[in-house]
Amino acid sequence: MLIDTHCHFNHARFAEDIPECIERAHAAGVMQMIVVGAEREGSEQATEIAERHGPGIFATIGVHPHDSRNWDEATEARFRTLADHPKVVAIGEIGLDYHYDFSPREAQVIAFRAQLRLAREAQLPVVIHCREAYADTLQILTEEGADELGGVMHCWAGTLDEANQTVAMGLALGFGGTLTFKNAEDVRGAARTVPLETLLIETDAPYLAPMPHRGRRNEPAYVRFVAERLAELRGMSFDEMARLTTGNARRTFPRLML
Ligand SMILES: [Zn+2]
Ligand SMILES: [Zn+2]
Repeated sequence: MLIDTHCHFNHARFAEDIPECIERAHAAGVMQMIVVGAEREGSEQATEIAERHGPGIFATIGVHPHDSRNWDEATEARFRTLADHPKVVAIGEIGLDYHYDFSPREAQVIAFRAQLRLAREAQLPVVIHCREAYADTLQILTEEGADELGGVMHCWAGTLDEANQTVAMGLALGFGGTLTFKNAEDVRGAARTVPLETLLIETDAPYLAPMPHRGRRNEPAYVRFVAERLAELRGMSFDEMARLTTGNARRTFPRLML
């Protein structure tokens, strides 16, 4: 079996057909899916979706760097309550995005640090989003003791050097559709060399559909293409890679086993 460690069923593009997507996922061997929150409302939706759609669906709660300008005390209080929900497996996605800068960098840092502290309080791992901001992200993670939290740097797209620094912090790397793109040699380089126990797979659906579905709406069933490519890169069989990444996901997100 496979686990899609990062999808957004709470996105408007899944408003009509979550049950059908879950059915196709099951048919592809994807038995567990983590629905990731990116703002307060989306985090509440993720939790509701996890409650409503069966035992294999889980949630995370977090305010994305894009939405950090809206981080406030009310959100923090709401998250503190939601963190106790048995279906909430992590705090995220949180982090820094200096590519788009949709929120001022100062606001991004404040929200990121506050949510790392919340994760520590709740004893939950973290799902990190980082784009063109590795130096600051790694520094903040170090200062906030993220090595004790565990979690994943999702949608891996950094250099090999950044990959080594990230796994040295005790974080896993989430590989997605990018791994299958023609011009992603750096991503494949990291996938080939980082320790096996740090490999996670994800879709980030509806974004970043892997080959051969690139450009269309992504969905959890397609995480299979990521696992296939990863198996090829590590010289393993598909079944071995499925077992490895599923074990890694359960170690990273212990509530998946409840
Ligand atoms: Zn992200
Ligand atoms: Zn995401």
